[in-house]
Amino acid sequence: MPHPDIAFSIVFLIALGAMVGAKLWLASRQIRFVANHRNQVPPQFSNTIALTAHQRAADYTIARTRFTMVDVVISAIVLIGFTLLGGLQALDLVITSRVGNGYIGQIVLVASVVVITGLIDLPLSYIRHFVIEERFGFNRRTPYLFFVDQIKSALLGAAIGIPLLFVVLWLMNEAGNLWWLWTWVFWIAFQLLAIVLYPSFIAPLFNKFEPLRNEALTSRIEALLRRCGFAVKGLYVMDGSRRSAHGNAYFTGFGAAKRIVFFDTLLDRLSGEEIEAVLAHELGHFKRRHMIKGLGIMSVISLAALALLGWLSQHAWFYEGLGVQPSPAGGNSGLALVLFFLVVPVFLFFMTPLGSLRSRRHEFEADAFAAGQTDPKDLVNALVKLYEDNASTLTPDPIYTAFYYSHPPASQRIDRLLNLKRPSPI
Ligand SMILES: [Zn+2]
Repeated sequence: MPHPDIAFSIVFLIALGAMVGAKLWLASRQIRFVANHRNQVPPQFSNTIALTAHQRAADYTIARTRFTMVDVVISAIVLIGFTLLGGLQALDLVITSRVGNGYIGQIVLVASVVVITGLIDLPLSYIRHFVIEERFGFNRRTPYLFFVDQIKSALLGAAIGIPLLFVVLWLMNEAGNLWWLWTWVFWIAFQLLAIVLYPSFIAPLFNKFEPLRNEALTSRIEALLRRCGFAVKGLYVMDGSRRSAHGNAYFTGFGAAKRIVFFDTLLDRLSGEEIEAVLAHELGHFKRRHMIKGLGIMSVISLAALALLGWLSQHAWFYEGLGVQPSPAGGNSGLALVLFFLVVPVFLFFMTPLGSLRSRRHEFEADAFAAGQTDPKDLVNALVKLYEDNASTLTPDPIYTAFYYSHPPASQRIDRLLNLKRPSPI
């Protein structure tokens, strides 16, 4: 029987190896499947999608998926570097020798890891936008805007993250054995506050929001909202085209403060009927309470995660198994947090298909709701346009889809929409 720390190192390495292997295998399946179907538009779409558009979507999907494979390998190397190769241990020693391991030392440690991983991600993110998205005509960012965005996000992250981190570390040190429960209560309150404040205070830092001025469209949307018994506080248009040619629409906020936000790129591309159908789909998510259910699941998972962290942080093998010596005098909370957030995604990865399945079910439900409120053909037309514009592949690999796709493939959504029985009007 090996020491518990060595046993934990082995479990971690096996899980990491399995995750990297699974991610690379899934990506290579997706690439092969899309490449094999590149030369023919699926019969269902032969009247609506041109072969050139189908091939562009295939090339875009393949380029993006290849790039994620690079990302998977780099992330795994960084993770091993921080843990088993002693990166975090070295960082902790340097910080502790300069500022000690009190609150400041622990906050500096967490912040250093965030900054280092952010800097490693920066060139990858740059390539994603300025090489891949650019090649397919999606990128609208300038390098200047890209760097301004990075700096703004970093400042915002520090302004929110450092006080948040301080409270969590304080609870870990002062709130006794049930600190993880108090931290959870605090975390849920923070999440709700973020949902309330995001639309008015955070989103405007990155985009401009203007009231929707198109009168015909406004009255069409208001009629839909009345029909569904739905109150919102405003209809807004966001300048999504500043960054990307991808289109979207979403709801934000909750309670009486809900807003609907349309990307300008979506309004440019879809007809009034199609926009109404897309919005009816989004309303379907609300009516079926998908957001509330999502919050419920998120809060259960975060409670379980914090309880697990509470247990792990008391065992030396958790630190030692991941290449770090905890200080016997205490002050290891920052270390425990960093290790936990580095390592937990490896184990959670294998839950991905469950989340994806739930999300795809919700998409079908929202489609069915939309089909009851508007002509299903409008949503079908909108979907075809959006798939074409976003160069989403019509022929994804079935196993890759089952594992990752939050939305069912276009063919399945359209099949269902066209075969749904519309409820007869009352
Ligand atoms: Zn949806």
